Amino acid sequence: MTAAYSLARDVPLHDWNTFHLDARAERLATVHVTAGLPALLAEPALRALPLMVLGAGSNVLFATNRFEGCLIHLRCDSIRIVDDAGGHALVQVDAGCEWDALVDWTLDHGLQGLENLALIPGQAGAAPIQNIGAYGVEVGRFIAAVHVYDRQAGAFDRLPAARCEFGYRDSVFKREPDRRIVTAIELLLPKAGATNLSYAGLREELAAMGGLQPTPRNVAAAVRRIRRRKLPDPAVAGNAGSFFKNPVVTRAVAVELQSRFAGVPVYLTSTEAERKLSAAWLIEQAGWRGVREGDAAMSAQHALVLVNLGRATGPQLLTLARRVAASVQEKFGVSLEPEPRIVGATFQPRRA
Ligand SMILES: Cc1cc2nc3c(=O)[nH]c(=O)nc-3n(C[C@H](O)[C@H](O)[C@H](O)COP(=O)(O)OP(=O)(O)OC[C@H]3O[C@@H](n4cnc5c(N)ncnc54)[C@H](O)[C@@H]3O)c2cc1C
Repeated sequence: MTAAYSLARDVPLHDWNTFHLDARAERLATVHVTAGLPALLAEPALRALPLMVLGAGSNVLFATNRFEGCLIHLRCDSIRIVDDAGGHALVQVDAGCEWDALVDWTLDHGLQGLENLALIPGQAGAAPIQNIGAYGVEVGRFIAAVHVYDRQAGAFDRLPAARCEFGYRDSVFKREPDRRIVTAIELLLPKAGATNLSYAGLREELAAMGGLQPTPRNVAAAVRRIRRRKLPDPAVAGNAGSFFKNPVVTRAVAVELQSRFAGVPVYLTSTEAERKLSAAWLIEQAGWRGVREGDAAMSAQHALVLVNLGRATGPQLLTLARRVAASVQEKFGVSLEPEPRIVGATFQPRRA
């Protein structure tokens, strides 16, 4: 019988984060059976340590050489259809399932909705944390509930979507980090209907693929082609995807920016009072696209991606990111907020 969990000491994290930083962790707990979580958390050796869940490490920046705590990694990865009646299916997915494998599984089972989120790295359990989004779709739209172990309550819980407080790259889980360990998610996925082509580049990509019909499978293929072309591959240059969130500002600020800077892209949000700006545009206009400081760089391929070109350290990457944010603040008066979790430091824009 498989043990519910295993514990390791002094663990190198190079292969546990997509920046490929050479940090280490005091402890790493690998959880094979989520029912074993209470026993794991009660281990005397762990009681005094800070705990953090680590999925595939595709949205974290270790800004410290050593995490003096215990990382918890969930391995359970089953997927099952819980309810198949009517035009939707309710699918329950264990936290340790690889996200992109899940996207393919849903397509293989005639379900749609997740095709625009194809090729996002990471585990399913991390998807609700920042409400992953891409190409006009956010996962929160399809999440029916999130199953967690609530460390504050010392009990398992099931949060229906309304309690998850999903927003743009945001959720209750992101705002209260490490309180809840996500063990599974429930997705309500349609069996038919139009695919989401609100992102203009998708139509163009389908046309370039020989005028393919916008079926869920073709949309997923188009998304994968665009992503492979646009985003640096973490296997080649360590990165965590977009490093900054697109800033949300008041409508008045957006109008004022448009009057001062020709061509500033401004997008509608769900509220009339707010507008979203393009962080990539702001960074590029501030002159940071392709800028390299040692092995830390802002990607030449995509202005929003901070990359490790070889042997950059977490603090070096963080220094560059802070300088970029300070420069954007100075030029446009707009604050940039990092998207990945920064472990061992806080983020404040700094010129030096
Ligand atoms: C090349 C590239 C492209 C990307 N593109 C996108 C994109 O298009 N859209 C997008 O939204 N993101 C994108 N990302 C970011 C990232 O892939 C997602 O945020 C993903 O969901 C992170 O999954 P992970 O398993 O790697 O989480 P990790 O990086 O390991 O963890 C991220 C955060 O979630 C927490 N966490 C992870 N699992 C759990 C759990 N089970 N319970 C509680 N907390 C947990 C961690 O503590 C941490 O705070 C991209 C990253 C890369 C490298």
